[in-house]
Amino acid sequence: MESWWSLGEGSGQYGHDLALYEITCPFCMEAGNFKTAFHAEKKKPSGSKKLNFDTLECGNCKGYVMVLWSASTMGGSHGIHAYRVLPWPLKLERYPKHWPETIGRYWLQAKRNLRDENWDAAALMARSALQVALRAKEAQGGGLKREIDDLAAKGILPPIMKDWSDNVRELGNESAHPKPEQEATDPQDARDVVRFLDFLLEYLYDLPHQIEEYQGRTQEE
Ligand SMILES: [Zn+2]
Repeated sequence: MESWWSLGEGSGQYGHDLALYEITCPFCMEAGNFKTAFHAEKKKPSGSKKLNFDTLECGNCKGYVMVLWSASTMGGSHGIHAYRVLPWPLKLERYPKHWPETIGRYWLQAKRNLRDENWDAAALMARSALQVALRAKEAQGGGLKREIDDLAAKGILPPIMKDWSDNVRELGNESAHPKPEQEATDPQDARDVVRFLDFLLEYLYDLPHQIEEYQGRTQEE
């Protein structure tokens, strides 16, 4: 599609009206429970094409989504239309194939727990993923913080990651075995450690993988 004026021309859903029943709430995952809270439209200066700008409210959680949609100018009484929704449900079902399985599994659970606001579980899973990733790179020292320092000293991690790690509070939390007086994890601390994990995996696994792929391609040429 080269122009938004082509939306709904050629492919889409049946009907001239927005298929509300098809839209899934990105916040509570309930499908087809929306009503229109706001509607505006814009007609193409020439011809009959019309773009609709709707804000929909979820009947279940009262969240909002924005929908841009348009019906085909052709097709008689039935017709078709197409739409784009923002935000859409984020599916966290996969991790990159080039990551070790254990790391991917823990990362996925860290992300899902963040989404569901299970801060203790998110931080715990992020620390577990970090542990496995650091050990896989033969980090020495005992404890996440010292192992990060060790990889930085060996040039495997860049100094900027080491500096950042000083400010990620959950990296200093060694408690896989909680004590009765264990404090609740701060939401921002949980987000921080998951973000740190994202960058660490990007650096240790994604970047080398992309360079390898690129080199593979240039050698084939
Ligand atoms: Zn909802």
